Amino acid sequence: MVFFPVPKLLDFKNSPPHLQFNKYVLTGYRPVSTCTGCLQSLFYLHNEFGNIYTHGVPFVCLLLLLPLSIPWSDVDEQWLCIIHYLACLSPTVGSVLYHIFMNHEGGARVYDALLCFDMFGVCLVNTLGALPIVHITLLCQPLARHAAMFGYVLFSCRGVRDALTAQSGARRLRSFGLQALFRAFLFFLRWFEFATGNPESLHHYVIMDALALMGGLVNVYRVPERFSPGRFDYWFNSHQIMHVAVVLAIIFLHWGTMEDLAWLKNYQCPPK
Ligand SMILES: [Zn+2]
Repeated sequence: MVFFPVPKLLDFKNSPPHLQFNKYVLTGYRPVSTCTGCLQSLFYLHNEFGNIYTHGVPFVCLLLLLPLSIPWSDVDEQWLCIIHYLACLSPTVGSVLYHIFMNHEGGARVYDALLCFDMFGVCLVNTLGALPIVHITLLCQPLARHAAMFGYVLFSCRGVRDALTAQSGARRLRSFGLQALFRAFLFFLRWFEFATGNPESLHHYVIMDALALMGGLVNVYRVPERFSPGRFDYWFNSHQIMHVAVVLAIIFLHWGTMEDLAWLKNYQCPPK
């Protein structure tokens, strides 16, 4: 029960043109609204409701619970803890704002700004989330470590530019390719013991990247709604599956990083 008039939801062809990005979602579109109207949509069912809560609830949980498991004072390099925490939060913040306010009366201009903010959050987790992995993988090779950090940040800048200017979901997914390849190279070094790091964390990172890729592909190919348009308008559509995959990927990133930080506490590089 809500204490305000719930607006009549629209079908695909009557929805604002900038919201017509998934032709397999046929109903449940919110009409153009004020800020208050967008916020009120937190309390009734529409086709962005699941998207808001699949990132909104994890955001609050991560915000409150992650600090309890991060070893803030156990490691000398506290910056690793800080950027890991920011990395875990960043994709859900932008996403929640994007999905709540995408039907704002400001129209396509506001929508584009929100989409950029959402994509920037994804870029941040790709960048900040990987820096502790780079640091720990090349812990005992300071020159290579600094070069790898610099290279990864450069790839990330290019990724940000490509993701923010991409015109389609497929191009957006592709803009994270170089960073993913770089991480795969680091995992390869660890797997064959050319590098350092906790062996227990490697499988967490591999699962993290597999989940992120799976979520991205499901979102790009609009599975399952493309096989039954209209059936997944409210629940279990590709974007919601992608959101869940992203949250699981963040959890695996966290587990992997916690294993690495625990390892870092007691590790001494061998003397040269
Ligand atoms: Zn989303």
